Amino acid sequence: MKIGAPKEIFDGEARVALTPESALQLQKLGHVCVVEAGAGAKAGFSDAAYTAAGVEVLADEKAVFEAADVVVKVRGPEPAEADMLRKGQTLISFFWPAQNPDLLEQVKARGATVVAMDMVPRISRAQKMDALSSMANIAGYRAVIEAGNNFGRFFTGQVTAAGKVPPAKVLVIGAGVAGLAAIGTATSLGAITYAFDVRPEVAEQIESMGANFVYLDFEATQDGAATGGYAAPSSPEFREKQLAKFRELAPEMDIVITTALIPGRPAPKLWLADMVAAMKPGSVVIDLAAERGGNCDLTVPDQKIVSDNGVTVVGYTDFPSRMAAQASTLYSNNIRHMLADLTPKKDGVIFHNMEDDVIRGATVAHDGAITFPPPPPKVA
Ligand code: NAD
Repeated sequence: MKIGAPKEIFDGEARVALTPESALQLQKLGHVCVVEAGAGAKAGFSDAAYTAAGVEVLADEKAVFEAADVVVKVRGPEPAEADMLRKGQTLISFFWPAQNPDLLEQVKARGATVVAMDMVPRISRAQKMDALSSMANIAGYRAVIEAGNNFGRFFTGQVTAAGKVPPAKVLVIGAGVAGLAAIGTATSLGAITYAFDVRPEVAEQIESMGANFVYLDFEATQDGAATGGYAAPSSPEFREKQLAKFRELAPEMDIVITTALIPGRPAPKLWLADMVAAMKPGSVVIDLAAERGGNCDLTVPDQKIVSDNGVTVVGYTDFPSRMAAQASTLYSNNIRHMLADLTPKKDGVIFHNMEDDVIRGATVAHDGAITFPPPPPKVA
């Protein structure tokens, strides 16, 4: 089959869904690859690098959509792109079907099959295709680097001839994939790191990374720790305890990185205006939940602002794209693994097996029908 990657058209998007290295691997599965001219330029992959990897470089997006049996993208399609899809063609990209019902209707009407990378079930077997995790890992790392860029001091403590420097104190709120990456990066740079999550099972993970889990004085288990590994909204009593703890920590923290999300809901507000006001001038807040409304009261999505008391609050929503080479490499690996499962005989023929839990879970449109939401996973 022909796998084609167009240039991303979303404003500012620098990633590409197919790297030259992935193209080489896909060729071993019997596929042929094409890209749009300039598709990898912002991520550091030149047209010459694709050509050297045996990839045909086509003049424009239309030529890629026409040539490809499978179109691979990072961002979900814009309506004009969805209009270029056709019956029997497959699109693999992020799609967010619950948030994009009109787009889902559009691809159904086109008769195309859509594999949504955000719908890959988060089970062990599918980890190699878990693009949410690979992008969250990058976002967590980059959040710390961004914090360092906006912070006028070292992370690590030092005793120098010119004076003693205390280590920076970093608080990470939400210890999912992005939060754990941020904790690992901050501690490896020498910061004293604190972390909090409503899921108590992460305490051990946090502590094993050399960070301090922030315990609350709350009876029984932590509230908001829902089943299935994801968080649920906290009770008002729990929330008050949590906010009181954060108020206590605010004057001491140099950097706060917030990553708290609850599936299907706006991000909970956890770092409130009075906490920002209590921080020292020169401190930094990085809000990784900005796209879903933000965990910090002062967050402005896609912007960096400075509060009245000199605290920088960063609400960028494109951290993975800011590390486009790394993000493209990992994302295209995720895509390649998905294509490997879709090519079971390694003969260049796609077999879209709707009996396979992972493929079924990620497929949101197939053969002119909407197949989202998927049925609940089979109990073993
Ligand atoms: P996420 O992005 O949905 O949320 C980020 C974190 O915010 C979560 O840890 C959540 O508990 C936390 N949070 C929510 N409300 C909070 C609050 N009020 N205060 C503090 N923290 C709050 O999470 P994610 O990174 O997608 O990971 C979610 C779960 O999925 C985790 O259990 C993770 O280990 C699991 N996971 C499993 C796999 C796999 O098995 N393949 C892969 C990735 C993630």
